Amino acid sequence: MRRPLVAANWKMHGDKVSNKTLLEAFNASFNADLPVDVVIAAPYAYLGQVSEYCKNDGLQLAAQNVSEFEEGAYTGEISASMLADMACKFAIIGHSERRQYFHESDAQIATKFQRLQAQGICPILCVGETLKERQAGLTQQVVSQQLKAVLEVTGVASFKNAVLAYEPIWAIGTGETASPEQAQEVHKVLRDCVATFDKTIAEQLRIIYGGSVNESNAADLFSQADIDGGLIGGASLQAESFIKICKVI
Ligand code: PEP
Repeated sequence: MRRPLVAANWKMHGDKVSNKTLLEAFNASFNADLPVDVVIAAPYAYLGQVSEYCKNDGLQLAAQNVSEFEEGAYTGEISASMLADMACKFAIIGHSERRQYFHESDAQIATKFQRLQAQGICPILCVGETLKERQAGLTQQVVSQQLKAVLEVTGVASFKNAVLAYEPIWAIGTGETASPEQAQEVHKVLRDCVATFDKTIAEQLRIIYGGSVNESNAADLFSQADIDGGLIGGASLQAESFIKICKVI
């Protein structure tokens, strides 16, 4: 049985005051008995603040990125060991915004995956197709390639401690969501792809969906056989919505 996971991706939003309001609301609503892992991926600047709320309740701390380098003269970078030092349990890698705006390659993403795991941090690896790719019938090919580009470097065993996120780019921040059937179809493709390397690991792997998830569509999406929760952007900045999304499971 896979334990569901819902991760808030705050992106580059928030400040100390608004974070506090959200975190206090989450703390009042979640506790360790919740049958879902609730993860908060905060901007680097606020990891310390968020970690204060991740001590005794149901919240777990995540970063939104990590450096591909281990340590050294890389001004502005944050290493996996620094994230571990801040008590991060998860980190998002390969988000489409990083692939698109910061030109991150599959090879860099695979290295980041390894850096995180070397520090005991669980990578949340994002894959997803553009609208153009979907319209050209390339969705399955694109997401399988993005997955295999990492898996073939890191080895299938590394997916015992990883989360996969399917995030169709056309659905991120657009208000347009993949239908539960569309999402399920891709999640199954991803699980089957991992199963060609190892069936048990594929069965245990959590694959979450991201792309305009909100309190109205979450239940239908999360009830699909291969959807194990969600990666939530916009709706994670509204306490009531995010709490409802986490509680539909
Ligand atoms: C995301 O950024 O990962 C995301 C899914 O955003 P949104 O929920 O706003 O579409």
